[in-house]
Amino acid sequence: MAIKRILIANRGEIALRIHRAAHEMGIETVAVHSTADADAMHVRLADHAVCIGPPAATDSYLNIANIISAAPGYGFLSENAKFAEIVEAHDIIWIGPKPEHIRTMGDKVEAKRTAGALGLPLVPGSDGAVSDFDEARRIAKDVGYPVIIKAASGGGGRGMKVCESEEKLETLMQQAGSEAKAAFGDATVYIEKYLGNPRHIEFQVFGDGNGNAIHLGERDCSLQRRHQKVLEEAPSPVISAEERARIGEVCSKAMRDMAYRGAGTIEFLWEGGEFYFIEMNTRLQVEHPVTEAITGVDLVREQIRVAEGRPLSVTQDELEFNGHAIECRINAEDPFNFAPSPGLVSHYHAAGGMHVRVDSGLYAGYRIPPYYDSMIAKLIVYGRTREGCIMRLRRALEEMVVEGVKTNIPLHQELLRQDDVLNGDYSIKWLEEWLAQRAD
Ligand code: ADP
Repeated sequence: MAIKRILIANRGEIALRIHRAAHEMGIETVAVHSTADADAMHVRLADHAVCIGPPAATDSYLNIANIISAAPGYGFLSENAKFAEIVEAHDIIWIGPKPEHIRTMGDKVEAKRTAGALGLPLVPGSDGAVSDFDEARRIAKDVGYPVIIKAASGGGGRGMKVCESEEKLETLMQQAGSEAKAAFGDATVYIEKYLGNPRHIEFQVFGDGNGNAIHLGERDCSLQRRHQKVLEEAPSPVISAEERARIGEVCSKAMRDMAYRGAGTIEFLWEGGEFYFIEMNTRLQVEHPVTEAITGVDLVREQIRVAEGRPLSVTQDELEFNGHAIECRINAEDPFNFAPSPGLVSHYHAAGGMHVRVDSGLYAGYRIPPYYDSMIAKLIVYGRTREGCIMRLRRALEEMVVEGVKTNIPLHQELLRQDDVLNGDYSIKWLEEWLAQRAD
């Protein structure tokens, strides 16, 4: 069924991203917004705008009763299985994965079990939840210390404890359980081998919901601070075309077997040439544009098409990976102490030129609200080679002007002068270690 109108249940650059894809397909858009976002760019550009509550996200963007409709984005309700079910129960088309898949992948123990059954390589560890200490000791000894104790309902880099030796296992498990209970309302924990110095490499997958699925290659998101991604690139500097095809096929086969619908990301840690599944995100991700840049596929358009019941617009054979793309997340914050910096943007100039994309709702005179996360723009640059991409990215960062608030543009500029970054020689620990040295 052809979709005529889409309600965009999100804010910021991703709301604008969806509006753009919709208008290119001749579809009307409805923006829903809190009172704090009445002046936001996506609200101005949408065909219709509805205010759904006060600034606090729990009263507006997370208020299901106020938003019964479709949200092909990330954040807020995009991974809420209950919301997806309510939407479908009201005969509104839900642009996103099937509710049961959102639910399964939202529980990490369930997700890991499902991934294992579908043939994805796992981090060695417990088969499921662990509550018995003797069993925990046996598992930890088997996989070898250090191990990591993780909350089944954890997320956003929270609910994890690293355990170095058997003496601490019982105490740390108890702590992890009670912290998980307090934070997520679920004390369930499980155990994994703690990898010392891995990279974070994730595969973009896409399914039509009827058993057809493809992969769109990987993204390397190893440059992280506090488990938050800072800069992402595609392809990964360490993955060969053969390895991409091999693991990509494992991922897309898993999606075919579960008849997955829409965009998904399968996240792995990568160490010593091996992939280890950690979780699956059942939504479009912030870093999706680097994949779009090297494949030429518009992932939001694809989500809308699949929701209309149409087939995938490309087959795996047709899909080609060309060149290199890097995304810098631009946040309104101090570049080195990371204190948030909301407020009035007095001047704004977006970088431009060949192969430069800026996804942002910023404009001069816009007031960045203090209520939401600090990401205000994404700068995505493409080049035929990684080296060319980096040169262009440096040039584009020079051109960006955001005045009135602090941004992390200087951090990106400094990062792009570090030999390890230039050589692609970094792990998930690199950025924090570099920041600590820099502070000395
Ligand atoms: P979340 O859902 O909170 O993002 P993840 O399972 O994706 O949790 O893990 C987040 C981050 O924690 C990973 O990117 C990695 O930096 C670290 N991590 C998770 N599991 C392990 C592990 N087994 N060994 C080492 N680091 C890990």
